[in-house]
Amino acid sequence: MARPVPEMEKIVSLCKRRGFVFPGSEIYGGFGNTWDYGPLGSLLKNNVKSAWIKTVVQERDDMVLIDAAILMHPQVWRASGHLESFTDPLVDCKVCRQRFRADQIEGTVCPSCGGELTEARQFNLMFKTFVGPVEEEAAVAYLRPETAQGIFVNFKNVQTTSRKKLPFGIAQVGKAFRNEITPGNFTFRTREFEQMEIEYFVKPGTDEELHSNWVRDRLAWYERYGMSMGRLKLREHARDELAHYAKAVVDVEYEFPFGWSELEGIANRTDFDLRQHQAVSGEDLTYFDDVSNERYLPYVIEPSAGADRATLAFLIDAYDEEQDKNEVRVVMRFHRDLAPIKIAFLPLSKKPDLVNLTKRAQGLVRSRWMTMYDDTQSIGRRYRRQDEIGTPYCVTIDFQSLEDNAVTIRDRDSMAQVRVPVDDLSHWFTEAFGQ
Ligand code: ATP
Repeated sequence: MARPVPEMEKIVSLCKRRGFVFPGSEIYGGFGNTWDYGPLGSLLKNNVKSAWIKTVVQERDDMVLIDAAILMHPQVWRASGHLESFTDPLVDCKVCRQRFRADQIEGTVCPSCGGELTEARQFNLMFKTFVGPVEEEAAVAYLRPETAQGIFVNFKNVQTTSRKKLPFGIAQVGKAFRNEITPGNFTFRTREFEQMEIEYFVKPGTDEELHSNWVRDRLAWYERYGMSMGRLKLREHARDELAHYAKAVVDVEYEFPFGWSELEGIANRTDFDLRQHQAVSGEDLTYFDDVSNERYLPYVIEPSAGADRATLAFLIDAYDEEQDKNEVRVVMRFHRDLAPIKIAFLPLSKKPDLVNLTKRAQGLVRSRWMTMYDDTQSIGRRYRRQDEIGTPYCVTIDFQSLEDNAVTIRDRDSMAQVRVPVDDLSHWFTEAFGQ
């Protein structure tokens, strides 16, 4: 049966309570909707990024990974069109001075206090900074508002050194910055975030088919890592919604507690970016196709996902509550590859013999899977804690373990328990995790 979409407050509170996500700079009262990933959140987000790299790079022959600099030559943003048109229409309330994105509010008055609004004006979302010791115009640089441009400017270097033939793609995971007017909904929209982007270079004419293939593959990725298909849908952009360079865009949307919203956009960007960079930099960015004996600028398919947004969606999707005797059991049903902790080791008591055996058992597997040791409070409470952070397996060491050198493994989802000899643990988990 499909699980109900949890309320956002439950997710935010669990994230804080268990160490997934904290408000940024909290001891100073927070700072403009910034969020910090705690011990579990950073493991979770890393697992999301690794799962993405595994699927789009490791398991394909036509993809490579790069890691470009955040600070780029200012001309990049002139060529890409960001300097001129990476703007949102902004309105201010003349009474309470709050700012809104004009395209996100209904009506003509302030949604907060009912006050009069100013005329809309265009607001550039790029963060400006200064490179070098002198704050002069010549040294102005921008924090990249997307990772994509780092890929375009490296197209030639990557293509010639990796000797890839079309179609092939370049993937990148990294921070991007946008001075969003209305950040919000927890980590859904922030000013500093991480993107997982692909630019897939194709021969013009093959672009439509390869675009559809990427839409199919990206949707399948979310499903592979356990996201409920009933909470995912595709939305094709209408013609009047398309940016001037895009031939087609399909968004993957997720049913967040605050409504259906974009998780990822998959665009057919034609040869717009390479053409622009070629014109502004003066470098020849064409590709020589030795099959058809032609030289041309490739078209580009861009699947562009957010690491924070995907992590948030996986958190929301994993959340489950079920009645267990007289209490409600909260379980984060993360896919095993995404779960921050894979195995928790729980000695029944703090007696030195039990602790030693527990540490020995943990030592047998910790180099392969992220583990946690916990000997505080009752075993029932410890199980609940592990359920709430989505740990697939708990290993309990009891007094009988000292006699028979075997331990109990408890499954997070079914709560079923099996007895396994300590020396078989590594083999047992290899089977359980399928690797
Ligand atoms: P929106 O219309 O919601 O502002 P967008 O269409 O401009 O988003 P893209 O430029 O397509 O977003 O960015 C690609 C992906 O990067 C998005 O699908 C999202 O996952 C992520 N992303 C974009 N902006 C933010 C942000 N401010 N905070 C978190 N993630 C973001």
